[in-house]
Amino acid sequence: MDLYEYQARELFKSHGIAVPDATVADHPREARRAAELLGGRVVVKAQVKTGGRGKSGGVKLAADPAAAEITARQILGMDIKGHTVHRVMIAQPVDIQDEFYVSYVLDRAAGAFLAIASAEGGMDIEGVAATRPEAVARIPVDPAEGVTEDKAAEIAAAAGLPPEAADVLCRLWQVLVREDALLVEVNPLVRTAGGTILALDGKVTLDDNAAFRQARWGEAPDAPAPAAPAPDTSAPDTPAAVAGPPPSESLEAAARARGLNYVKLDGEVGIIGNGAGLVMSTLDVVAGRGARPANFLDIGGGASAQVMADGLDVILSDPDVSAVLVNVFGGITACDAVAEGIVQALETVHLTKPLVVRLDGNNAARGRAILDARAHPLVEQVTTMDGAAARAAQLATR
Ligand code: GDP
Ligand code: MN
Repeated sequence: MDLYEYQARELFKSHGIAVPDATVADHPREARRAAELLGGRVVVKAQVKTGGRGKSGGVKLAADPAAAEITARQILGMDIKGHTVHRVMIAQPVDIQDEFYVSYVLDRAAGAFLAIASAEGGMDIEGVAATRPEAVARIPVDPAEGVTEDKAAEIAAAAGLPPEAADVLCRLWQVLVREDALLVEVNPLVRTAGGTILALDGKVTLDDNAAFRQARWGEAPDAPAPAAPAPDTSAPDTPAAVAGPPPSESLEAAARARGLNYVKLDGEVGIIGNGAGLVMSTLDVVAGRGARPANFLDIGGGASAQVMADGLDVILSDPDVSAVLVNVFGGITACDAVAEGIVQALETVHLTKPLVVRLDGNNAARGRAILDARAHPLVEQVTTMDGAAARAAQLATR
């Protein structure tokens, strides 16, 4: 789960990392009020779970509270790389002298963490990494040893960061470990004209598998859906803000609430299968047939009709899906139960996209007969996995 910048900022602050004073606002007038409280001049920052906000016009300086209101009105509702801005952060401006980059990421291949740091942080870090990789230090961190003071000094020296940055490197490691994060990134970490080191932006990805032992995450990290701003006649060109988190996140939450394993991908074929192995190979076969999976959902073993209905509901709610492939090999899960689930789902879900079903294994004949009897015009059965994948790919990409 990715956090918003303002949530990352809170985590950093609770671990003793200096951050600018800030507050959030869901409405331009709240932004004005926040600016008044912060002393007038502020930075207005779009809160979306994507980078490059600065380059997209989602980070702007406002000279006074009235300007903060106008700027917030411009930024709220803005689309940044497919993410609608529902909330802004109003922050005290910082007089930047230097911008650095620091992060810790899990390096699965190396079985360790990686510290990545550069003295040339800021909005063009990707460019620096691409054109002058030597300007970006990459130092493995042994997970058992962690980032000690010596290690932090080593990372800072390798990246050309000032020695004062070492303290932040130690604390950032504590954020990673204590908060069960897979990624913590600060870009830019700045040195102010006065010599203070501050985390000006933060990106944190928490490890969902650790949710059980992170009670304080609760439901909080995903911001509650703010109400759409009231119509404001003084700003006729304000884009209408859509309430709620981006659809993929709310779908993942909905699936989790129903005990389903749902993963969002970026293609166009929705995939439902039973068992991780079968689902993984279904993704490959669909890709082999020239389409890309939009998501996948593992309904597991022993899936009931209700689980199937819930699963279809989730998959069909993904706007990227243009065809769905249900690939079930009946073992513990009997195919007739899966077919019943599909029929039940068709009662509640308004099917607008083609559904290709492949049932094999336990009670396959009975399952196929149930679907044949339902005779829904958008439901097709194909008996082989490869044939079903080919048909779903064809329907999705036509
Ligand atoms: P990102 O573009 O999504 O990574 O958003 P950032 O929070 O990193 O902001 C982008 C850029 O805006 C930073 O690299 C800074 O150069 C600039 N910026 C952000 N906050 C301040 C501030 O308080 N003062 C100044 N001078 N620049 C800022
Ligand atoms: Mn940034």
